Amino acid sequence: MLDQAAIDAIRHDPVSPRQLLIGGKSVAAVSGKSIPVFSPIDGKQLTTIAEGGAEDIDAAVKAAREAFDDGRWSRMAPAQRKKIMHRFADLIEKHALELAVLGVRDNGTEISMAYKAEPLSAANTVRFYAEAIDKVYGEVAPTADNVLGLVHREPIGVVGAIVPWNFPLMIGAWKIAPALAAGNSVVLKPAEIASLTLLRIAELALEAGMPDGVFNVVTGQGRVAGEALGLHMDVDVLVFTGSGGVGRRLLEYSARSNIKRVYLELGGKSPNIVFADAPDLDVAAKTAAFGIFRNAGQVCVAGSRLLVEASIHDEFVEKVKQIAEKMTVGDPLDVNSAIGAVSSEVQLEKDLEFITEAEREGARRVTGGERIRTETGGYYLAPTIFDGLKPDMTLAREEVFGPVLGVLKFEGEEEAARLANDTVYGLASAVWTQNLSRAHRMIRAIKAGVVHVNTYGGADGTVPLGGVKQSGNGHDKSLHALDKYVDLKTAWIQL
Ligand code: NAD
Repeated sequence: MLDQAAIDAIRHDPVSPRQLLIGGKSVAAVSGKSIPVFSPIDGKQLTTIAEGGAEDIDAAVKAAREAFDDGRWSRMAPAQRKKIMHRFADLIEKHALELAVLGVRDNGTEISMAYKAEPLSAANTVRFYAEAIDKVYGEVAPTADNVLGLVHREPIGVVGAIVPWNFPLMIGAWKIAPALAAGNSVVLKPAEIASLTLLRIAELALEAGMPDGVFNVVTGQGRVAGEALGLHMDVDVLVFTGSGGVGRRLLEYSARSNIKRVYLELGGKSPNIVFADAPDLDVAAKTAAFGIFRNAGQVCVAGSRLLVEASIHDEFVEKVKQIAEKMTVGDPLDVNSAIGAVSSEVQLEKDLEFITEAEREGARRVTGGERIRTETGGYYLAPTIFDGLKPDMTLAREEVFGPVLGVLKFEGEEEAARLANDTVYGLASAVWTQNLSRAHRMIRAIKAGVVHVNTYGGADGTVPLGGVKQSGNGHDKSLHALDKYVDLKTAWIQL
């Protein structure tokens, strides 16, 4: 349970300027430059982070390579690696409140969500992969009698991870934990506007006993530090969560450098499809609102397109509107706020542009659409719903990454599936129906990484998350994620 008094006791703690973490040491950027960090809660400067550049990335990759090659982690006994990872998870959990508050001050997610979705989720992820370390086996191939075919699963080397500003700990852990569990070394480049908690957990990893150089963090600008990591000749694997535009660049960097493997988790325009026979329209409406408005819509799997069957359309949109209008947009550090701040002024401006464009193209604004709480100096947007969307409108096609929901009407399964798939993305989706056969037909018909049935979101670490089409490749979470971080080596032995 979150305790408001405990949050308030630390919410104004000074945050000292942060350095890079390379080879187990806190170091300044070679350039000596830093980036100011502003809190979306009130628009005021919180602290600074070091502005890492190509030389810092090179130093971090060298530290990671050295650690990998001398086997201090990659060849440590699995049971020992597991112990350290468990201690790491315990420390994240022990510092959960501190991490959650620091993260909220950095990126504005409402604390009621951030506490569970950030430190607690990251601790669970680290534990999941810690447990896997001594439970995933290699293979003996079913060969002829006179040979022995063995398949070894080996760590690959140096993993470069570039992550976004939404849920930095949760998404960061989805990359770092399986990469480290498999025995690799990591160089992490967090987003400029959400680096603080990732720097902190890297310190906790050291405290847990992770050897120096195994987990390095270089903060800095994407087009400088991120590009240097993407182009580095000694990075073996690049894992990324973020926008499609940057994802394309990473593929280019790989082609221009050492053909490193690139795994991308990109955006979405996920359809939430409500049939008239949904088991409970009130639950469906509440879930639809929460599925787009929590974290001010800055969720890759957000259900940003609501598809409603014509016979219940008016009634259902009214229900969602009423719920949206009751959701409190407030101080992200208040446990009662349902929605916190938009992460930055730039993102808020982008959201408002999408709203203006939706009106210009003729969609009907049902609620919201305005910047609010301007007296705080922070970045807040009222939950916004547009009805009467046509499939070719901008709001039906482009990811806003803000608290903006677009509603489309459909008649029957065929049209629902056609509209659902009428997008370049394929990340998440949901179907609300009591008809089991229809649910299974829709699961088959929808092209997406996940199809929820009679719920939205909330899948745990046991199942993979990945996109199809332009939502990306490869998977985070579950044992499948380990595949990105191991090489399969065959030993073929003549007997
Ligand atoms: P972004 O692509 O702008 O930035 C992501 C990261 O890439 C940041 O660390 C940034 O510094 C870095 N970067 C920027 N330019 C770069 C360059 N030229 N070279 C290398 N690195 C560079 O994305 P964002 O705005 O931080 O996050 C929002 C996006 O992330 C949305 O599109 C959202 O859908 C997506 N996302 C996807 C998932 C998923 O699992 N599929 C999860 C969360 C967010």
